[in-house]
Amino acid sequence: AAPNLAAGSLYIEDVFLAIKSTHNNHWSRIQLLLETWVPMAKTSVYILTDGDDPSLAANFGNGSRYVNTKCGASHKDKDLMCKLQVMYDLYMSKIEQYKWFCSVDDDTYINIPNFVKMLREYDHDKDWYIGKPSLNHIYSVKEYQLCDLFLLVSLKHMSCFRNGEFIKRGEAINNPDDTAIGYVCNYLLGVPLTSIPEMHSHLEPMWQIDPLDYHKQISISWGEVVASKVIVIPNRLSIRDEIPQFPVSVDPTRAYTFHCHLFPKSDSCRKIQDK
Ligand code: UDP
Ligand code: MN
Repeated sequence: AAPNLAAGSLYIEDVFLAIKSTHNNHWSRIQLLLETWVPMAKTSVYILTDGDDPSLAANFGNGSRYVNTKCGASHKDKDLMCKLQVMYDLYMSKIEQYKWFCSVDDDTYINIPNFVKMLREYDHDKDWYIGKPSLNHIYSVKEYQLCDLFLLVSLKHMSCFRNGEFIKRGEAINNPDDTAIGYVCNYLLGVPLTSIPEMHSHLEPMWQIDPLDYHKQISISWGEVVASKVIVIPNRLSIRDEIPQFPVSVDPTRAYTFHCHLFPKSDSCRKIQDK
């Protein structure tokens, strides 16, 4: 990366960090994020979801950072694109306040200190598209796929995607939200993806991350690997015995264990232990 003269002056408060969710996931997924990394991101985190949920909204700036997008709740491209459009329009309305735009799914753990340190390497006055591709081959626009990643853009030149333009692009390429961002950045703006090895989507095998390297990672995730019609394998960190851990029964994603491994003395970790 180009040396950033303003390096060191970037804080999490400079990042617009939006979590995309849906009401069905509030209890099953967002709760876990609130108990772990979200408090470390202070007032930067917005939740973009569907439906109202006053008790959850209270955790996001008394509702000020909770957004009922009124989009459809499904996993279909159209509904995901709708959420991205609302997210993007919200960011544009606050552009004076932020240096970076970041979109993340609700099944991702972010190591906030590492994340900020990484961002300090990049000059936010230039355009960047930062994340991790899920595929390791060149794709045509039709099969363009960057599933589940984490996306960051310094978006000075993207005001042209207001007023539903993102949705139109997404529809035009028949793809979901993350792919549409990839298309817009790569093809329309000519900003290639800067791939960060320490970011991980759950399309990667999580068990391959070396426990000795846990502290270096910027994001991890979890999910399932469908090996065949009848075999579904959980995709999660494989925690070594030497690392203090919560049993899989209470920590199936391994996010609690990962969080307490990184931040053993934090209040959040103590609360998890006391549960
Ligand atoms: N999602 C949604 N509606 C759904 C299912 C998922 O809005 O019916 C959102 C979910 O909150 C998450 C993203 O879409 O942020 C990806 O969902 P998931 O992790 O379940 O599936 P994946 O695309 O990773 O297979
Ligand atoms: Mn997912």
